Amino acid sequence: MPWDLLNVEQRELRGLVRTVARERIAPRAAEIDASHEFPWDVVELYRENDVFALFHEEEFGGLGTGTLLSLVAIEEVARVCATSALLLAVQELGSLGLKLAGSEAQQQEWLPRLASGEVLAAYALTESGSGSDSAAMRTTARRDGDAYVLDGSKRFITNAGVAGLYTVFAKTDPDGGHAGISAFLLEADTPGFAVARLEPKLGIAGSTTGELVFEECRIPAANLLGSEGEGFRIAMRILDRSRPGVAAQALGIAQGATDYALEYAKTRETMGRPIGQHQLIQAKLADMETECEAARGLLYRFGRMCDEGADEAELTKASAMAKLKCGDVAMAVTTEAVQILGGYGYIKEYPVERYMRDAKITQIYEGTQEIQRLVIAREMLRETRVFLQADA
Ligand SMILES: Cc1cc2nc3c(=O)[nH]c(=O)nc-3n(C[C@H](O)[C@H](O)[C@H](O)COP(=O)(O)OP(=O)(O)OC[C@H]3O[C@@H](n4cnc5c(N)ncnc54)[C@H](O)[C@@H]3O)c2cc1C
Repeated sequence: MPWDLLNVEQRELRGLVRTVARERIAPRAAEIDASHEFPWDVVELYRENDVFALFHEEEFGGLGTGTLLSLVAIEEVARVCATSALLLAVQELGSLGLKLAGSEAQQQEWLPRLASGEVLAAYALTESGSGSDSAAMRTTARRDGDAYVLDGSKRFITNAGVAGLYTVFAKTDPDGGHAGISAFLLEADTPGFAVARLEPKLGIAGSTTGELVFEECRIPAANLLGSEGEGFRIAMRILDRSRPGVAAQALGIAQGATDYALEYAKTRETMGRPIGQHQLIQAKLADMETECEAARGLLYRFGRMCDEGADEAELTKASAMAKLKCGDVAMAVTTEAVQILGGYGYIKEYPVERYMRDAKITQIYEGTQEIQRLVIAREMLRETRVFLQADA
């Protein structure tokens, strides 16, 4: 058996997800992309096979198999269908507020339903005027007796219209900057809440991306996550944990495109031999495979750090590095895959143009690549300071 970054038990579970992905999801991928329809059949498949449970602890109905394996699951699905992989990554993104800051009562009420997939989750931070600069948000939450009243809107929210539970960030103190933001749980059927529209997109076509509107939207005060004013910190802690889910999606897209280009290069002939025998094509394939493996190293390292209890400060940099590397590898590798297929790479009969379109979003959402670089550099500067002080 070839050497592997995973142990025997982890390989077995990866094998199960790989089989489900190849046999049940791969045949649907092109159709999901073409139809732009949310793949409820894939959600049902995950429910039946306990795939959502990979992301949760046993006490809440999960499998308790840890972070590394959950990333491997996203990677395996993304190898065949980026939209279906995003369903997993966003379920985790929308669950993390509860996991990191939820009260026991909130966790008991919601985590088992998220682990089974009975309820889908969403994470609503971005607004039309605030993406990278999330502290500039304008949505407000005013305390009124035993409720908060939300007013405002959110833009670009994945799972809009299909989620049953939204983690929403709003200003409880509009003049308080970062410290004025709080986090809330919002149920989809709350009066005053609506999905105003869904966006047509370049890629991940089966995933919904929508605008949320809150008009005098009353939610119970018990739906506050953590304390008032803690929302920005919660949002950033969630992103530290969730960005590697996007990295896993990106890596799966890159590996899927590499696998396809390799097979194609074995059979397509020019100048009397398979193109895989031409050295310039070999160089592309070698670079693609090497980049995927390098990205995988950073991603799995993050998974291991989580599973071995690394502290949160260390996770911030590791998470941003994994997302940065995997996203850039996905874009570069899928572009090369299209090149290897020549004209066939550009047409929809072959899957690599879909991989290339799907790759682009991994450089944008959950913090753009520019923001990842800022985070990494900030952590580097902080580490240097500690090092110099320790040395003095
Ligand atoms: C398909 C899709 C799904 C999404 N899903 C979600 C979701 O589920 N939940 C959610 O809350 N959001 C979601 N988003 C929003 C996404 O996270 C934001 O679009 C992203 O963070 C960038 O914000 P922005 O679009 O406002 O760009 P801007 O912040 O306006 O950035 C524009 C450009 O300027 C760069 N830039 C900004 N600030 C700096 C800086 N300080 N230094 C250097 N460069 C900078 C950016 O990197 C970018 O290149 C989604 C977006 C899309 C397209």
